[in-house]
Amino acid sequence: MSWTATERFEARSGPGGLALVQDLVNTHAVERDGADLLADHATAQRWLREASRQWAADRGLESPDSTLPESDLQALRELQASVQEMLAIPPDERAADAAAAPSVVTRRAQVQLVTDELDRVAMIPVGTGADWLASAVWSEILLAQRTGTWPRVKLCREPGCRSAFYDTSRNGSGVWHNVRTCGNITNLRASRTRKKTPAT
Ligand SMILES: [Zn+2]
Repeated sequence: MSWTATERFEARSGPGGLALVQDLVNTHAVERDGADLLADHATAQRWLREASRQWAADRGLESPDSTLPESDLQALRELQASVQEMLAIPPDERAADAAAAPSVVTRRAQVQLVTDELDRVAMIPVGTGADWLASAVWSEILLAQRTGTWPRVKLCREPGCRSAFYDTSRNGSGVWHNVRTCGNITNLRASRTRKKTPAT
């Protein structure tokens, strides 16, 4: 059990269930490090099973039914693309007013609200397959927007990578998913450009 998509890039995962959002985005293909995990039904099913189990373990819940009907594959890919687009917006330009009522509803998912013997309220995703994932992903994003961790989920600046990582730098200035790999590529490119440009 692990965050299989994110771990292959050696990217830092966000706290608790938020890592699910990142793992979904990181199912994408990166030439250097791995193939598209949603490319076909079998790989998508394997990814969803692993990710939903890891999510349940991190949240202290029972594993959900992660059966993915073949007809759900497209919905899964669309969800991945939607979240990737959201993360492509620089953190300081993302809508910050998470408490406001939505003006136009663009997506919908269902959750169950439950309480325990200590009267703590929790949000539990419902459904199976792509419906479950949408429910889990949007609830994690809601929680992250309310607790202030959402701006720390970013896409790597390196154009050939764009992997999702959790920025733990003190001032939130991290731009690469991994400084050793993507940071070095960028520095190397910059130094080559400098060498090509004759000093004036
Ligand atoms: Zn990167």
